[in-house]
Amino acid sequence: MAVFRDLAALRHWRQGLRGSLALVPTMGNLHDGHLSLVRLAQTRADQVLVSIYVNPLQFGRGEDFAGYPRTLDQDLARLQEAGCTAVFTPDDAVMYPRGKRDLSLVMPAHSLSKVLCGAHRPGHFAGVCTVVAKLLHMAQPQLLVLGEKDYQQYRVLQRMATDLDLPVQVVAGPTQRAEDGLALSSRNRYLTPQERQLAPRIFATLRELAGQRGAVAANLAAAARKDLENAGFSLDYLEFRAEEDLRALEHVQAGGRWFIAARLGNTRLIDNVGV
Ligand code: AMP
Repeated sequence: MAVFRDLAALRHWRQGLRGSLALVPTMGNLHDGHLSLVRLAQTRADQVLVSIYVNPLQFGRGEDFAGYPRTLDQDLARLQEAGCTAVFTPDDAVMYPRGKRDLSLVMPAHSLSKVLCGAHRPGHFAGVCTVVAKLLHMAQPQLLVLGEKDYQQYRVLQRMATDLDLPVQVVAGPTQRAEDGLALSSRNRYLTPQERQLAPRIFATLRELAGQRGAVAANLAAAARKDLENAGFSLDYLEFRAEEDLRALEHVQAGGRWFIAARLGNTRLIDNVGV
């Protein structure tokens, strides 16, 4: 498995590459969710490149950028074992050689990026789009593989690729979960044992809500929000929206999805479940 830290080495490798390439962008601290995307990528392309970069642009003030878990040696071992072709591990000097101020940014479509997480994390999706656009230009993959765990991110990036005529197909793999239903996430390690016990209620709630076809989504959301808040969660949002364009839907119906962002202590967890 090749490991590249700088752009020249990545480009040199890319120029000599035969067959199709899939890119799986990550922020490292890899778990089985990330590895499931590597496996999906392997079924869809000849070669798989994983990028590992904790992108400062997509973190807001007071968010967990500094404390985000960085476990590169362990990540590389897991990727090697998974049969990944190559890994790109740039640092800030490689990604933003002129610094992060006065940078050209990719502005995502408002209808997709100002709702849900975008309403609570200003600038987040512009940071995501900018770094992924750069990675796409650097690596020139035919396929971009993302996780449904970050469903809004998937739709925002898919739309970016369409709007900017990027020659890449965007696909998303299903969310991988712990046995008790909690979506795997690098941030789960922030949870105290007590919070970890409570956390599966997020998925249990979404699954229950997704079963209520025909019901008025706002009424269900209000009741479920109360229950979760009584249990100790603090909610950023709990909403039912269309998968395709993330517009709010009044009734629970096929083609829609429940989205939640909930805090337990200092940890912010997100999840989503389709009907
Ligand atoms: P991250 O390292 O958190 O930026 O995630 C990198 C990619 O892995 C994103 O496309 C995520 O949606 C995806 N991902 C994260 N957690 C999971 C999971 N539990 N199941 C599937 N994909 C995931």
